[in-house]
Amino acid sequence: MSHDILKALGLGDSHSGTYLGNGEWSKTTDAGTIKPQNPATGEVIANVHASSKADYETIVKRAQEAFKLWRTTPAPKRGEAVRLCGDALRKHKDALGSLVALEMGKIKPEGDGEVQEMIDIADFAVGQSRMLHGYTMHSERPGHRMYEQYQPLGLVGIISAFNFPVAVWSWNAFLAAICGDVCIWKPSPKTPLSAVATMKICNEALKAGGFPDIFFLFNDAGTELSQAFVDDKRIPLISFTGSTKVGRMVGERVARRMGRSLLELGGNNAIILDEAADLKLAIPGIVFGAVGTAGQRCTTTRRLFVHESIFDNVLDTLVGAYKQVEDKIGDPTLATTLMGPLNSPEAVQGYLAAIEKAKAAGGTVRTGGAALTDRKGNFVLPTIVTGVKNSDEVVQTETFAPILYVMPFKTLDEAIDMQNDVPQGLSSSIFTNNLRAAEQFLSAAGSDCGIANVNIGTSGAEIGGAFGGEKETGGGRESGSDAWKVYMRRQTNTINYSDALPLAQGIKFTV
Ligand code: NAD
Repeated sequence: MSHDILKALGLGDSHSGTYLGNGEWSKTTDAGTIKPQNPATGEVIANVHASSKADYETIVKRAQEAFKLWRTTPAPKRGEAVRLCGDALRKHKDALGSLVALEMGKIKPEGDGEVQEMIDIADFAVGQSRMLHGYTMHSERPGHRMYEQYQPLGLVGIISAFNFPVAVWSWNAFLAAICGDVCIWKPSPKTPLSAVATMKICNEALKAGGFPDIFFLFNDAGTELSQAFVDDKRIPLISFTGSTKVGRMVGERVARRMGRSLLELGGNNAIILDEAADLKLAIPGIVFGAVGTAGQRCTTTRRLFVHESIFDNVLDTLVGAYKQVEDKIGDPTLATTLMGPLNSPEAVQGYLAAIEKAKAAGGTVRTGGAALTDRKGNFVLPTIVTGVKNSDEVVQTETFAPILYVMPFKTLDEAIDMQNDVPQGLSSSIFTNNLRAAEQFLSAAGSDCGIANVNIGTSGAEIGGAFGGEKETGGGRESGSDAWKVYMRRQTNTINYSDALPLAQGIKFTV
């Protein structure tokens, strides 16, 4: 099965994890081997040879050379390169979506959906390539013109997380590419095959279209090369997606060398259900948000605040809905499956430990609460816990698993305060038909998150909007709106077309 998926993408049982440019994959085999496992069975899918220091140096040198050419390529022409990548991804959507499902463990429609996000951001980037606008300003000096322009930044380093093994790269790489930058990608060691396949698809499309190399790849068997990457002054921007723990370190190190970082870190997302919530919308929104991708989305719903007047009814309905999902837990590549496994045995341990902590804090497991030990793989039951407080450490912490803490509230002010009272600030939502409640939630005194929704859950986002969050989520923004600006340097230009040189503060220098 897995062999067929690999074969469809031109991959074998073992592959280099290093794309060096010039159509060349590294021959290095002594820098460690990464062995991504099928989370549904624990079996190794294929071997990926990690990159050496010498490989990394070759990549940076070739990327620097490529940048010299790419930065002066007209932006709409750069857009054409990204369009070819989008077209190639359309052709390989089914196969790449299957590989994402196989290697990461998300269900097949979510794997396909991730590839669709890559296609969508490619389309977006093509349009954006004609709109890298700056302002013009009126100068205070006669005979002068002022404007600002955005110039390519240079090399962009992308470090990505396992849970979105391909889409996160494209959100960064396709925008960076139209901005005139050249990208170097370090994917998660849990999902290197998805990265290798993506590089093959996009780089072959670029080559066939007569474009130079603009996308490079290396894989790290440990963290030494990744740290060197973060510290590398030749990389002006590091875009990091991952845990707050590692992201904090990355942000500090990049800041120390005065580089720029774009941080997309952990979330602890909540939904508020007030008395006027339409439960026909809210219940599926909550179940999808909390159980989808087995709770392994940065935007997964982890906390639910329910008005006390509807608390018991909502809880009963949710427990019933969760029981239906339990029957559809299984192999993520099968069409009938609704929930796949966690990505690793360590994630199962993290899930079990969080449930024990919640119980110790006075929590009650209403449904789920156990790993599925009757089968291979990292399967757990989707879980609902009540009786914990928002301030409990376990509730304040992002556990990357399908655990939902459900808590009652009396007033909307109280619910908004609890929703905001966590270290993270990624996604949030309210279900209500009460206009005042919705507007309060979206006001300056409402949600403090980067994403705030009404009558839609917390998970998933359209690429047209800027994606990211506040506080310990890192403050970065990717994807739509004006997120492209982080991949460029801003320059203010003043042109004097008069025959005088008026100096600042009216000072006269006679020479
Ligand atoms: P992780 O922090 O363990 O790993 C992320 C990346 O960092 C991987 O590529 C890893 O190899 C690399 N890394 C590890 N140590 C490093 C080091 N010392 N130097 C440089 N790089 C290093 O995260 P994960 O488990 O892969 O992903 C899950 C986390 O990512 C969750 O917290 C989730 O919320 C977050 N996430 C956030 C977003 C977002 O957009 N906000 C999106 C997806 C995932």
